[in-house]
Amino acid sequence: MPAPFRLYNTLSRSMEDFVPLQEGKINIYVCGMTVYDHCHAGHARAMVVFDAFVRYLRFRGWEVNYVRNFTDIDDKIIERANELGEDPMALAERFIDEFREDADNLGLIHPDSEPRVSTSIDAIQALIKTLIEKEHAYENEGSVWYSVPSFSEYGKLSGQKVDELKSADEVPGKRHPADFALWKAVKPGEPSWDSPWGPGRPGWHIECSAMCCSELGTTIDIHGGGLDLVFPHHENEIAQSEGANRAPYARYWMHNGMLTMAGGQKMGKSLGNVFNVQDILLEYPAEALRLYYLQSAYRSALPWNAEALPDALGMLCRLYEAREVAESMGGEEPAAQVAESLGADALKVLEYSEAFEDEFLACLDRDFNTSNALARVFELVRAVNRLGNHKKARKRGGPVVAQALKCFELVSDALGLLGMDVADFMEEVKERRLGAMGISRDEIEGMIADRAQARSDQNWAQADEIRDRL
Ligand SMILES: [Zn+2]
Repeated sequence: MPAPFRLYNTLSRSMEDFVPLQEGKINIYVCGMTVYDHCHAGHARAMVVFDAFVRYLRFRGWEVNYVRNFTDIDDKIIERANELGEDPMALAERFIDEFREDADNLGLIHPDSEPRVSTSIDAIQALIKTLIEKEHAYENEGSVWYSVPSFSEYGKLSGQKVDELKSADEVPGKRHPADFALWKAVKPGEPSWDSPWGPGRPGWHIECSAMCCSELGTTIDIHGGGLDLVFPHHENEIAQSEGANRAPYARYWMHNGMLTMAGGQKMGKSLGNVFNVQDILLEYPAEALRLYYLQSAYRSALPWNAEALPDALGMLCRLYEAREVAESMGGEEPAAQVAESLGADALKVLEYSEAFEDEFLACLDRDFNTSNALARVFELVRAVNRLGNHKKARKRGGPVVAQALKCFELVSDALGLLGMDVADFMEEVKERRLGAMGISRDEIEGMIADRAQARSDQNWAQADEIRDRL
């Protein structure tokens, strides 16, 4: 019996054994982008975390149905469209296209379904009708409000107390300050749909409840999103879905920490400290960004700084280097025997490799701790690279590193950390770097050939000198 997969549940505020509702199958819904602007590094963290998570669940043998929505109707979209003099729906469409391009460039798997608000209006209206029937919602002058005091469990996710909640804006027609809009009566110049309450558009929170339920059913296994969505968005989703269906909404709530700027600020457009994914990917391969995110446990706040990506890129280079080193080693003696005669570094490689699979998977099984899992990877990488510095090891170390190579394959399978086009990425990075330094590829290749010659002449001083220049 394998050890259980443990997941931190925001709802119980504790680590739990993960048991899906239906054996072998997992339904997961992740709140997607509100498409009014470019995708930035903060959004990308959430996308990468859940991408790696879904890959891991599948790797572990579960059949995963992964749904991530687009919010294509929203106050922010309308505001932005007005600023730009563009049609809101056209603006949303443009940023959906752009997001898809970013997602592909980030190497994200496609969700099984990507519902949009604009094509889910019927489901949204049906849910609102049910909420009115069950006296969890009321209509007032063309708008429909959720009655927060009508749902006794309100606050169970976020710990907010209904009595202490005040509305951000004074809106006439609301019975309680904490009540929130399910349907907003049309205003001039806004997109709208007919409804039993008059023309209008859905509020933000009802969308996710409706899309999640139509795609995955009344009770899902995992609901994910950024920590900033716990309140009010996810609290409201629970109130709506459980109020209407009288069944638990999501069994596990999973939230990724925020990307923070210096001084602990959250990254966000309103703070003017945004780094677009497009711009980042002009400078760095997607793998470096992915490694940077996954080196930190998903629930931690992650500081964003200028050194972060070069460091991650450097680590990736050492990982690829270790693979190359491992692949280039020869020899046919039994591993334990070679390791013994090669000494401490070889023994370390053997030791880390043997324990690797169990430890790596155990880290991921404990609340998907990619940080600890990657620490195991880089411990092995360092040991392989150190071993590669010994001339004798290059000739005879093959059997010792054979295990390590299998470990690197496991990393590749489990996290999709290394895609098929890794070599292309590295070539691309090299070209860009060389270009930036004003050096031609021929020049470099000439130096590499000179160094190989010096080594075969056993002229170590010259070989080292060329290596340093390289
Ligand atoms: Zn949502």
